Amino acid sequence: MIPRTIQTWHIKSWQEELSQLVRSPAELFERLNLDPSLLPAANKAAEAFPLRATHSYLARITPGDPQDPLLRQILPLGAELTSPEDYSRDPLHEREANPVPGLVHKYAGRVLLVASGACAINCRYCFRRHFPYAANTPSREDWQAALDYIRADPSLEEVILSGGDPLAVSDKQFAWLLQQLDAIPHVTRLRIHSRLPIVLPSRISPEWVAILRSSRLEKVLVIHANHPQELDASVHEALQRLAAIGVLLLNQSVLLAGVNDDPAVLADLSRRLLSLGVLPYYLHLLDKVDGAAHFAVPDDKAEAIKQALMQKLPGYLVPRMVREVAGASSKTPF
Ligand SMILES: *Cc1c(COP(=O)(O)O)cnc(C)c1O
Ligand code: SF4
Repeated sequence: MIPRTIQTWHIKSWQEELSQLVRSPAELFERLNLDPSLLPAANKAAEAFPLRATHSYLARITPGDPQDPLLRQILPLGAELTSPEDYSRDPLHEREANPVPGLVHKYAGRVLLVASGACAINCRYCFRRHFPYAANTPSREDWQAALDYIRADPSLEEVILSGGDPLAVSDKQFAWLLQQLDAIPHVTRLRIHSRLPIVLPSRISPEWVAILRSSRLEKVLVIHANHPQELDASVHEALQRLAAIGVLLLNQSVLLAGVNDDPAVLADLSRRLLSLGVLPYYLHLLDKVDGAAHFAVPDDKAEAIKQALMQKLPGYLVPRMVREVAGASSKTPF
């Protein structure tokens, strides 16, 4: 537990925190006391995909430890600059399922809206690291086109707000979008895929929670934590606000070499999630996106991890191990 005095000491609005992201490798190295010989490569890798991290997330990293599992997720490395041949910039062929800017419709009954191009953190393994966000950060007109698309297809019962990070939009924009979706009768469920409850827990403000609560839709929030060390008291507090209004809380993780490719770590993550009221949902195998090959876990090791988790944990704490196969009509179980 973080003592109460320290918590109140640090209170800043989430917008303020978002405007103060760490974006410079030099600042990261200094702050976390990292080996300066890695800095030139970090600068180079950050040119291809910028460094971004919140102070809140950095506070959970052990200074001076280059192997820290949280640091590994954000630290630009020289290894990102070369990729094996079977890696590509758009491994999921999302551009083919992008009928309207900001909208991806790949699976039956549900449609994914890229509600914001921005993230509060840049995860080095992100499969959308080369996604053309600039062309997909929706304007009001794009929103109208996306909403028209949803209105015109009565088979769409669920709208997934994704990104980037959908919670990076202002409360006002969020409230507007929610009102539009509420008014489409065949939409019954709202799902939000966001890493902000982890990396910027202050985003889950009482004001935002009240807006969410006002919607008639069933609400599911899928957070994204990869390691139990990410789940501190501030995350717990944010999630409690959501549980209190009946939001179903799920977690997705990515299986990452050097971060969580260990059944003991993943079992701890599941237990810790449950203690925060969150069930594990997906454990994704890495998508083969350029720059992320150093996070790949071989299939035989992934299989052994899955078996070990099934032995260690009750079934409801075992995340579904899946991979994305371009063109498939759902995630593909592994
Ligand atoms: C993962 C994903 C979904 C959601 O899939 P579920 O199996 O329902 O969680 C929807 N649309 C796209 C494009 C996705 O990548
Ligand atoms: S928060 Fe999600 S979308 Fe954003 S960089 Fe990380 S993995 Fe990618």
